[in-house]
Amino acid sequence: MKNDALDRLRGKLLGEVLGPQDAGYDAARRVYNAMIDKRPAVIARCLGTADVVQAVRFAREEGLLIAVRGGGHSVAGHAMCDDGMVIDLSLMRGVHVDPANRTVRVQGGALLGDVDRETQLHGLAIPTGQMSETGIAGLTLNGGVGMMLHKHGLTCDNLLSADMVTVDGELVTASADRRPELFWALRGGGGNFGVVTSFEFRAHPVGPMMLAGFLAHPVEEAPQVLEFLRDFSATSPAHLSADALFIHAPEADFVPKEFWGMPLVTLFVRYFGPMEQAWEAVQPLREFGTPLYDSVGPMPLVAVQSMLDTFTPAGNLHYWTSEFVPSLGPEQIAAVAAIGSDLPSSLTTINVHPFDTAATEVPPDATAFAHREDSWLIHVICQWKDEADSERCRDWVKQTGKILKRFGSGNTYLNTTSEDDETDRVRAFWNEHRLARLAEVKAEYDPENVLRFNHNISPAAREPGS
Ligand SMILES: Cc1cc2nc3c(=O)[nH]c(=O)nc-3n(C[C@H](O)[C@H](O)[C@H](O)COP(=O)(O)OP(=O)(O)OC[C@H]3O[C@@H](n4cnc5c(N)ncnc54)[C@H](O)[C@@H]3O)c2cc1C
Repeated sequence: MKNDALDRLRGKLLGEVLGPQDAGYDAARRVYNAMIDKRPAVIARCLGTADVVQAVRFAREEGLLIAVRGGGHSVAGHAMCDDGMVIDLSLMRGVHVDPANRTVRVQGGALLGDVDRETQLHGLAIPTGQMSETGIAGLTLNGGVGMMLHKHGLTCDNLLSADMVTVDGELVTASADRRPELFWALRGGGGNFGVVTSFEFRAHPVGPMMLAGFLAHPVEEAPQVLEFLRDFSATSPAHLSADALFIHAPEADFVPKEFWGMPLVTLFVRYFGPMEQAWEAVQPLREFGTPLYDSVGPMPLVAVQSMLDTFTPAGNLHYWTSEFVPSLGPEQIAAVAAIGSDLPSSLTTINVHPFDTAATEVPPDATAFAHREDSWLIHVICQWKDEADSERCRDWVKQTGKILKRFGSGNTYLNTTSEDDETDRVRAFWNEHRLARLAEVKAEYDPENVLRFNHNISPAAREPGS
């Protein structure tokens, strides 16, 4: 792109405009997953909605495709593109809490930690994910799975409205009453429809203190741990979240030194209900087997929400897959235990997450997020540091994905899949009926598929002039 075009855009934006010649360009094109190495023609680091409107209009005048960067955490690298424009919202991290109405307005580039920091000042929380540096935008638009899923559903289930800039540079609001079809699509249809500059969420009284921690068992006991977790989850209180996590224990404060580097299966326990009932609620988990260590204790919600940060620092190489498995019978448990006992790198983890209660009580057609059946989300997070390991690690994930698919319902969680995961799986998640409905919304808001760096939905064909 010519310098005079970039200068024209600079004249229209309060934020920074970066081309390949500019200092800061390389830092700005870096995303969470170090496998991603894309070179956009221009990065517009927007400071507000007006900047987004100007950037979109400029991209359209110049015939550029648009990628949108929220938190930059998509392992598929969807926040970046080659040659086109990146609308970078990472400087738009404002969070405004309305404690009287228990609602929260969050800008499109905010991270989960930004949201918890502000909401917790008022003893409130939004159900989000498990790592503080993930972007709220990508997480919400494709679902949002975290510790409050049992009690309050997915992040997108708690969305009340969204302000969005269309690819024509128009500012629109979607909610249950205003543009309801767009509102339906934004809750699970990903970043296909426009640039969301802010989200409005319903918040819940949670915290500031919680009970949380890890109960670690030798990886050889994984079958018993998974069986116990399955049975316990069937009747566990809604305020309690317990996942299984296969790890090599990190060198972190909450891990006794003698276990650092050891392969383990841990129960990651979080109780966010009334503190006077907390110890009793977690007791059965603590009494199971003989944990190698038990780090469960009272701590602030903001600390709990960043406990997993240490497992997944930015800058590593990543390749992921996931599968919703309808039930954990002996065969599934044996397969997951075997996979978890043979991780291809010390940084790789597997999260076995019950997916039930509030998240599955939402009617399947109420939102575009398609999977509403009681199941287990098996999430394979493969990460490594040395490029020489890339092929081996990717092959391992692909093989693992095939094994899990044998037990799955065919559904993957799109927020946790990598770039070249088969497109059929993306289509299968939404299914033909839902995809046709999404394609109509896409045709209305982005008929030329300018926003295609996402789990892409092709616009429905329309008669000229309709
Ligand atoms: C370490 C780690 C931990 C994670 N933990 C969880 C978890 O606990 N629960 C969970 O559900 N998921 C989790 N995820 C997955 C996460 O939800 C997805 O990676 C999600 O896409 C991240 O959103 P982002 O804004 O950071 O991503 P980005 O890479 O910025 O964007 C992802 C997609 O959303 C689009 N997008 C981003 N911002 C906007 C916007 N403002 N308007 C329109 N489109 C936009 C992008 O174009 C792109 O297609 C985790 C990911 C990582 C890397």
